[in-house]
Amino acid sequence: MRTLAAPIAALGLWACSGDNAPSRCTLDSQCGTGRICDTGTCKTASTRTVGEACTTDAACSVGSICATSMPGGLCTYSCSGDTCPSGAVCTDLRASGSAMLCSKACSAPTDCRSGYTCCPSLGACVPQASCPPNRSGAVSADLGKACPAAGCAAGEICAADPSPGIPNPEFPGGACTAACNPNDQTTCPANGKCVSTSTGSFCFPSCTVPTDCSGSLAACVAGACRSSSASPSCTPPSTPNVVVGGTVGAPAAPTTACDPAHAAPVTTPSLPAQTFGAPKVVGDTVQFNVPPGTGSISILSQGSNVPRATVTLNGTQIIPNSVVPNLVTDPSKTVLFNDLPAPPADGSGVPVFYGGFSPFTGMLTMPNTSFSLEHTAIQGGFTPGTWSFQVNDFALECRQVNNCTPQTQPTDAYDIRVVLKPGLPAATGTVDVAFYFVGGNVGSAAAAQTDAGFARMLQTLGKFYADAGLCLGKVTLYDVPAWAKTKFGVPNADDESACGDLSQMFTLAAPGNQINFFFVTGFKSSAGTGLTVVGVDGTIPGPSSVGGNVNSGASVNGSDLSITGCTSALDIHACGADEVAYIAAHEGGHFMGLFHTTEQTGDVFDPMSDTPTCACATCAPTSQQASCLSKNPSANPPTLIRNEACLRPTGTPVCGGGDNLMFWLLPGSFNPNPSSILSAHQGQVIRSNLVVR
Ligand SMILES: [Zn+2]
Repeated sequence: MRTLAAPIAALGLWACSGDNAPSRCTLDSQCGTGRICDTGTCKTASTRTVGEACTTDAACSVGSICATSMPGGLCTYSCSGDTCPSGAVCTDLRASGSAMLCSKACSAPTDCRSGYTCCPSLGACVPQASCPPNRSGAVSADLGKACPAAGCAAGEICAADPSPGIPNPEFPGGACTAACNPNDQTTCPANGKCVSTSTGSFCFPSCTVPTDCSGSLAACVAGACRSSSASPSCTPPSTPNVVVGGTVGAPAAPTTACDPAHAAPVTTPSLPAQTFGAPKVVGDTVQFNVPPGTGSISILSQGSNVPRATVTLNGTQIIPNSVVPNLVTDPSKTVLFNDLPAPPADGSGVPVFYGGFSPFTGMLTMPNTSFSLEHTAIQGGFTPGTWSFQVNDFALECRQVNNCTPQTQPTDAYDIRVVLKPGLPAATGTVDVAFYFVGGNVGSAAAAQTDAGFARMLQTLGKFYADAGLCLGKVTLYDVPAWAKTKFGVPNADDESACGDLSQMFTLAAPGNQINFFFVTGFKSSAGTGLTVVGVDGTIPGPSSVGGNVNSGASVNGSDLSITGCTSALDIHACGADEVAYIAAHEGGHFMGLFHTTEQTGDVFDPMSDTPTCACATCAPTSQQASCLSKNPSANPPTLIRNEACLRPTGTPVCGGGDNLMFWLLPGSFNPNPSSILSAHQGQVIRSNLVVR
């Protein structure tokens, strides 16, 4: 699988810009004896607690941060897909503009500190404004109806569209509703029902038959009038709906060679997006608007005319000319991301992390670090207002890096779109997926429909993703033309260029918002020899909601897709279908924004603070530690850190993550447990991705 961050770090190592040292920590060693670096802040080792007053994260225990918008400051964290400590409960305050966070449990007013009320419907200490009152004695005349100019009834809120042209998924066009608690239906009017949605818990008009519903909330779903664009309710693992989608791609092979400058057409995303007119040239600045309550921001750069396919470092190291927005700036003029300085080995405490290659087309989705996940959630979304960034690729950065060529001004042009996800992600979500039968053990969509191995693979994939709160929704099976099977059945995994086998195979991806999995028979090297690689992602994350482009999918070795050796127990070693499911789940994890918990040389880690690290220098077998890259940068070959050395998450030193779905290497000898293969933060990154609804 792809080595992610090393070449980018290389770009940074030669950066001659005045690198400003981070004011926050990225490593324990920066914090002094006995202290640890937790999500960017030095803290004394401690058990996770919530409820304390605070002004900064440093006042909170390890794993908690300071919600400064709460009265007196509140040490807490997002409990979306996470558990709360003893004496605390998970309270969904999203509908009142706050977060899904752990609040101190209470039974009497004296249990709560100043500024907080013991909310009867929640059983927790929350600000009075976030406590849904008992409304069951009254009927609301405007519930679920368009917001009147004079405003909704007292105590209600107008859930409006986030911005013109971007509909509120639960209340398209805007409607009167109220924040409520689904565990206490008295928090809605007598004619309403409280429903936990993907963006918060709201009162909807109650119904028994469809004719009870009207306007934009015309569907009667489980006793509530809902929008057709509402997120489906889901209890993972759900049973997916499998359909056949036909054949994708042109019937005949292309007759002209792929032009790297125009490796794929610009495509319109299937989700509403902000557009910026004609394609932008690298160096241009783009401004976009973020409305209040935005939980996820995705910047999509699609190649329009990219004549510069590669840049060369030190005269020999040729790397793809990757597109990545730079100088991402929030409304307070704070630069959240600058691609030129070398990224930290552990990015969990920085606002934005970028790694890997994304030639021609790429997506940057925030939040993608523990720091930004936690702070975005706790403050009820990203800072609203005007944001900006510079359209940028490595060819432009090359001009500021010593020993990088060429140094001429690039003219690379990209079509830019910004896609926002309203609301903070819930604890569950639904993802649609598609499979393309290019190679592998199952030859066609029709065969897959009745193949026991495919059915087993899908069932196991559902179990793995259930660990991140995901339900599989629609599953579409696509065939590809004969020429594509011949050309891409065993793709060249060494060629990462936009005209390479993998990138061009991914352009066959159908339009729509789904993860596109391409089954192949195997992978080969540039020299034509077989590789032990089992899967290759497009980019991290993939361009969700965009089909037909390079990187619009992930490839999976499907040659073991069979029921042979499978028993009722999940076993990725004995059961080929389970193994393929594990590979697909991993590659889909990249598509949804996850990096490897530990990279192969054991010196680079994912930007999550709740996934244990496994450093080569301290976790590899003693006899191999001297050849770790962190100890000997010229070791040839360097020691590669294996799963089995990374199964002691609470040891000293910590050597964990070997059983995580996103470890760089397939487990060799042990069987990962599907209930623990992803962390809470990894689940939050996944559910923040556009592909999850
Ligand atoms: Zn991987």
